[in-house]
Amino acid sequence: MTQSAQDSPPPIPPLRIGLGYDTHRLDPGGPLRLGGVDIPAQVHAVGHSDADALLHAITDAILGAIGAGDIGCLFPDDAAENKDRDSADFLRQAVQQMRDSGFQLVNLDSVVLCQWPKLSPHWGAIRQRVADLMQVETDRIGVKAKTGENVGPVGEGRAIRVRCVALLCETGRIG
Ligand code: MG
Repeated sequence: MTQSAQDSPPPIPPLRIGLGYDTHRLDPGGPLRLGGVDIPAQVHAVGHSDADALLHAITDAILGAIGAGDIGCLFPDDAAENKDRDSADFLRQAVQQMRDSGFQLVNLDSVVLCQWPKLSPHWGAIRQRVADLMQVETDRIGVKAKTGENVGPVGEGRAIRVRCVALLCETGRIG
């Protein structure tokens, strides 16, 4: 190894990983906005924007993977223009920044923690909506659900939580 090679930092691998997490309070009265889909429900998520916990977690995972901060940096929750805002706007912005940084999505996986309503009938619509927003195939989008087993804020139906992990690759490294 030459002296210059020893002094140089190793090349950065073409993969990046990002983690997203979000919680919103649930109040009476539907529908429940999740993944850009309005789900018939007895509850809705409360927040400054449309309170879409899944899109928020995905947005944070993408931003984290490219080292671009978080959703609160881009879209402050005390800004008037973000009041009741469609969270699809947040994800579109994160996707644009991902592309501008030279990355594309390999895949993402997420877990929604919610006691009710039953979400499985809506997975198809949610995965399609997220895939459309990210302009990828639906098989790159994973969405799963867990209840709170009737324990704690999730289990008592007072909150919805989402965890998401996203894997990115330098543009052009995957098909
Ligand atoms: Mg949120």
